[in-house]
Amino acid sequence: MPERFTVTTPIYYVNDVPHIGHAYNEVATDVLARWHRMRGDDTWMLTGTDEHGQKIMRTAAANGVSPQDWTDRLVETAWIPQLELLNIANDDFIRTTDERHKIGVRIFLERLKEAGYIYHGEFEGQYCVGCEEYKTPNDLVPGTGEFEGQLVCAIHSRPVETVREANYFFKLSEFGDRLLALYDERPDYVQPEHVRNEVRQFVKQGLNDLSISRNTFDWGIKVPWDETHVVYVWFEALLNYITANGYGVDDERFERRWPATHIVGKDIARFHAVIWPAMQMAAGLPISDHVFGHGWLLVGGEKMSKSKATGIEPRQITEVFGVDAFRYYFMSAIAFGSDGSFSWEDLDARYHSELANGLGNLASRVIAMVHKYCDGVVPAVDADDDIQSLVTDAVGRADTAIDRFAIDEAVDAAMSIVERLNGYITEQAPWVLAKDDAQRDRLAAVLASNVHGIGAAAILLAPVMPESAQKLWAAVGGEGDVLAQPIREAHAWQGTGRVSTVPPLFPRIEQAQPAT
Ligand SMILES: [Zn+2]
Repeated sequence: MPERFTVTTPIYYVNDVPHIGHAYNEVATDVLARWHRMRGDDTWMLTGTDEHGQKIMRTAAANGVSPQDWTDRLVETAWIPQLELLNIANDDFIRTTDERHKIGVRIFLERLKEAGYIYHGEFEGQYCVGCEEYKTPNDLVPGTGEFEGQLVCAIHSRPVETVREANYFFKLSEFGDRLLALYDERPDYVQPEHVRNEVRQFVKQGLNDLSISRNTFDWGIKVPWDETHVVYVWFEALLNYITANGYGVDDERFERRWPATHIVGKDIARFHAVIWPAMQMAAGLPISDHVFGHGWLLVGGEKMSKSKATGIEPRQITEVFGVDAFRYYFMSAIAFGSDGSFSWEDLDARYHSELANGLGNLASRVIAMVHKYCDGVVPAVDADDDIQSLVTDAVGRADTAIDRFAIDEAVDAAMSIVERLNGYITEQAPWVLAKDDAQRDRLAAVLASNVHGIGAAAILLAPVMPESAQKLWAAVGGEGDVLAQPIREAHAWQGTGRVSTVPPLFPRIEQAQPAT
């Protein structure tokens, strides 16, 4: 039986404009999914959009269309095109306006109610419509400018609204001890460590019950036993991870796909590692495999966001550097799990040193030499021992890094092959060996070593740069689809024994940053 690997992005809030912060999450999740597919795991990648709530209802009205038309338009013009642009190979795309989602949410709520975890109660709180979340006093900061003298949401810098509602509540407060036990028993459930500590600390302070319905607007999924209420948008959105894979309606499919691993930004780790597992416990579901909270992308020291004018559209970067370089840069330059700073200068420098000069130049030199000295036939001899063991070691390191969600380390292991081969060529100087008939065997071994290493690197880089890796793979004599190669056996690949030609993979770029 192949291992199951179900992996999810958050579902994106449809009103947002897709920026490189979303793209970062999508690419990372895609790389993990592609890696697991290349292991032969039973892999399934889910992404989608979060489409209900008051803010969407308000913006739809402001644009003079129905909420459904509004979200349809955003999905079609922004969110699906972003996935296509970034070459994301998701297996499914769920919208919270899908019928399958609405059905699953109602089934889940009925089960929670039957189990005694839902009650009707009164609540007054400070609500941020931007966050779609009640705020505690700790979440508020003094306002500035036009909001001077008021308390505002720390994320949105806008005043919160005092909301008094008679709502349905989820007994979240009953799950504190079980959640703490979960974090202790499964130390790898929440990662990385600093996010786990933050979540643990939050639960230790004690949990309040969670208001899970609203009756002041109607853009949402109706509570099954009281149609004057719609389900709180966050509570409902989290359920996409199960409603997409047959929860309540297709048990066989559900058992095959669940539990899942969630890749989220650290700012929403609390929802995924506190509220969501409590919901799973209440409904008697197996708990998610992992919640990984990655860092933020910073531009000029600030978290990327449209409202703060630091939003960069992925297209601005891909139009200059290409999609694969975009994917490579964000996966390699930032330790996955830490915050990372984006700058055009850093992107430009890494593109030229690592991709254009490092990888692209290596491949074109080696291929040219095999043509020149061996008529395009790769010498049928073993690679040098030290190169072979370096490659085998890199494959193992990359693969275990993926199990720790250390995508940057996996890329680093792959690129260590490239770096070593560049040094090795300089040391071995095949152009000197070629002038001496007595050195024919050495020349053969050096060329075979290079081709062997490049082919293995192409396999390891395929989840990150699918298109460039395919070209590289084919050029060194790899057969078929590089993404179909068993990644754990990348060091043992066998090709046709002939090189072809490699198109320029990473052309030099004169002006990196687009004029604005
Ligand atoms: Zn807010």
